[in-house]
Amino acid sequence: MIALARKYRPKRFSDLLVQDHVAAALRGAVAAGRVAHGYLFAGPRGVGKTTAARILAMALNCERRAAGEGEPCGECDSCTRVWTGAANLDVVELDAASNRGVDDARDLRERAMYAASAEGRHKVYIVDEAHMLTREAWNALLKILEEPPPRVVFVFATTEPQKIAQSAAPILSRLQRFDFRRIGPRAIADRLRQVVSAEELVADDEALHLIAKSADGGMRDGLSILDQVVSFGEGPVTAVRVREVLGLISDDVYGELLRLVSERDPTAVFPLVERLVDAGADLGEFVAGAGEVLRAVLLGNLGGKPEGFTEAMLALIERYRTPLPAPDVVRLLAVLSEMEPQLRASGNVRLGVELLLLRWAMMARTVELQTVIEALGKRDAGGGMRDAGSGPATPPVLRDASAGAPATPPASRIPHPDPPEKGPLTIDRLRSLWPRIVADARAKTPMLGALLQVTEVVGVEGGTVTIRLLDTNPVHAEGLERQREVLAQLVARYVPEPVRVKLQGAESRERSAPRPSRLTEEGARAERLKTLRAQDPSLNAAVDALDLELLE
Ligand SMILES: [Zn+2]
Repeated sequence: MIALARKYRPKRFSDLLVQDHVAAALRGAVAAGRVAHGYLFAGPRGVGKTTAARILAMALNCERRAAGEGEPCGECDSCTRVWTGAANLDVVELDAASNRGVDDARDLRERAMYAASAEGRHKVYIVDEAHMLTREAWNALLKILEEPPPRVVFVFATTEPQKIAQSAAPILSRLQRFDFRRIGPRAIADRLRQVVSAEELVADDEALHLIAKSADGGMRDGLSILDQVVSFGEGPVTAVRVREVLGLISDDVYGELLRLVSERDPTAVFPLVERLVDAGADLGEFVAGAGEVLRAVLLGNLGGKPEGFTEAMLALIERYRTPLPAPDVVRLLAVLSEMEPQLRASGNVRLGVELLLLRWAMMARTVELQTVIEALGKRDAGGGMRDAGSGPATPPVLRDASAGAPATPPASRIPHPDPPEKGPLTIDRLRSLWPRIVADARAKTPMLGALLQVTEVVGVEGGTVTIRLLDTNPVHAEGLERQREVLAQLVARYVPEPVRVKLQGAESRERSAPRPSRLTEEGARAERLKTLRAQDPSLNAAVDALDLELLE
């Protein structure tokens, strides 16, 4: 039995799936007798690059092709020899991955000097994985292409044209380039259906969709998988059989995943993973599949049409479009991309998958963020965000560690086992005490300690201590301004009465340079978004990824 992939390999340009633009151009060039000396066929693997090169060789040497025709007959001796890859003087196939050296290139060059085997025939060199050729090899080839022998055609096939551009840019200008497209799962499924009927096999649509999806854009792989599934067992090719042979995870597992994520049901995480492990499923495969399903939900939400899923899966994707709106899905995907490297590197994949699903199931939703923002908006209208830490109406999630409750405890709660000696509040005494106060501050909040290190005492008047910032960093000024109260308490421990702390230049700074982002409603909103983004990196990535204005 001939392998299906081989049996159904195209024999004519018109049989090339999806690559109509390439087929038309090559057919036209053959028909007009204007075939180039060098071609570059670029594109993903399995999309027909070497097949197209062979068809070109067949067409150029076909014994039955009439003048003005572009397609090979596919039946004559010459066509058959090229197509089957039998010993052939006129078509030489080289795999650059195994023939990289300059010696091979020299050999190629010498061989190219010989004319084709007979009058009117063409010699076609097909160099596969051409990006693997060395610079020296390209240099040798460049010399050939600068003065090409008559009726010699080079076809370079590559999955990585950018590498050729890097290592052999000059040669690109001598090559006619064709970009082969990825073959979509629907096109693969359609072709599989034709093959199934030609082979008098029986296969259900769902099975063919699964195979097409697993083929990942390669027609040859699609046919090989079909072959494999057919060879395991008898009777019709069903989805269940395909899943068994390929070790695929069933749709209802993903259905359960979508449910537990959209309903925020973390308790369902452990049973689901347990079920996968018990079934011997590949957890990496499951995570990849989950990512694809979420992508499909997102695509559906953005008005696209997910492709390559079974009918049952498409129904699930449609059903979860509403409970999982686009911004939510973007955030779920952001968490996935963030955790993927860890999952791959982790020795305990099961734990990693459980953590991923837990994070998904416990993630805050856009709706809730919206509520938070609305609450913030109300607060902002009544007095600004800087006082956010003290008001009872402030949503707790928005507390900023440096401005929130821990930074402004009542004086009695400042820990001090050994009360310092109190004395008069004078500038000299305070200056000499300053290093101790800085140390006290550092013990309490490292941030304040660091800020005080770049300060000096410049005045004492009544109960007010004026300090000056030694640098001009506005962030430092703002930080100190926020912690004036705490500092006042620290100072008060050394003096008999309460003190106030003033930051020199603070008033004028506030008056002359108000933060511009506060000036407009738009700026205020941008700042709130910035705060939220800083608190939730996944949201951050999501906004960047889709440039979504999800919160506005
Ligand atoms: Zn022929």
